[in-house]
Amino acid sequence: MLDNSLREQFNAQAKQLGVLPIKVTAHYQRLVEEEITTLGRTGGPLYRVVYPTAARLEMRVAHEVPDFVEDRTNMPPGLEGVLIHKYHQHALFLVTDKCAGHCMYCFRQDVMSDLQSQTLPAIDEKLNRVVDYLAKHPQISELILSEGDPLNVSFRYLEQILQRVRNETSVTDIRFHTRSIVFAPKVLSENVCALLGQYRARIYLHVVHPYELEEEVSEVIKRLQTHGVRTYSQFPILRGINDQVAILTKLLRALDDLRANPINVFIPDPISYSAAFRLPLKRLLGLMDELYWTTSSWTNGVRLVLDTPIGKVRRDDISAWDEQTGQVTFQREGKKVISHDFPAALDEPSQVNTLLWKG
Ligand code: SF4
Repeated sequence: MLDNSLREQFNAQAKQLGVLPIKVTAHYQRLVEEEITTLGRTGGPLYRVVYPTAARLEMRVAHEVPDFVEDRTNMPPGLEGVLIHKYHQHALFLVTDKCAGHCMYCFRQDVMSDLQSQTLPAIDEKLNRVVDYLAKHPQISELILSEGDPLNVSFRYLEQILQRVRNETSVTDIRFHTRSIVFAPKVLSENVCALLGQYRARIYLHVVHPYELEEEVSEVIKRLQTHGVRTYSQFPILRGINDQVAILTKLLRALDDLRANPINVFIPDPISYSAAFRLPLKRLLGLMDELYWTTSSWTNGVRLVLDTPIGKVRRDDISAWDEQTGQVTFQREGKKVISHDFPAALDEPSQVNTLLWKG
């Protein structure tokens, strides 16, 4: 039932276009196959997470850019492809260029595919440089490990990172952003969970659909908590995957049940080849309003944000919105950033019964 020619065509073009090729774990493939069997076709929400539809490369809109948040301009000299230092007290360590699986909607496709084609320093050398930089910048109190997937590394390397960051720098808070848990939950073994607990790590789970939280994944989240790891979550609102209030409610409730407190929901970045997943700002704000009117505060307390070169901006930061041109200006701490909205004429809201195919 999978469209092999589309998949082959996509993989053949991926590198040249700066998008990630298809990569699906056996665990996630089982979920996709159950979805295909139930729907009787491809193109359901879990399928769209990991496989391209025709629109993925064909639908383009004006003003898409390869790297909207400008990650590259915030990489200190000598740490290109290794560390992003954009905020005073946080830094982001690009532990690995690999993820357990690839998400078609990934906002960091460009940087990730670029990193995958470069020769990066060996992992020990990378860690030496990061520790050295952190030691010279004691104002950095939180280290975020993300992009590829920081739990997609060996136990030995993970242990070394945690030990050295804790013992040789001023970092007090260590945060992991991961989708390994939904792609390959076995990675979160008892030993890994105990190690993360020992270093009082925080884990931000990236879960985009409630069916990703199946039994094994739920057990792993509980295992993390048993070891004292604090769990949170964040996800983007994506057309064809979770762009209806019914599914957002179900996902937020499921995350709350698992004590993976939802913090942020993201407006998709206007990056190249992302149009198949984007939706207009007006519809996004409408979804958030409806969530607010129809659910309890522990469900709707989550913030809708856009990640930008000046940091995360919210609805309250909109200083100008030209609906004719689609140009939206956000202002934060005296700095301005312009984003171009997704055209309403191209928006096709998903059918709830397709998104929630289990009924
Ligand atoms: S796991 Fe995260 S970084 Fe990796 S492809 Fe998916 S969204 Fe991108």
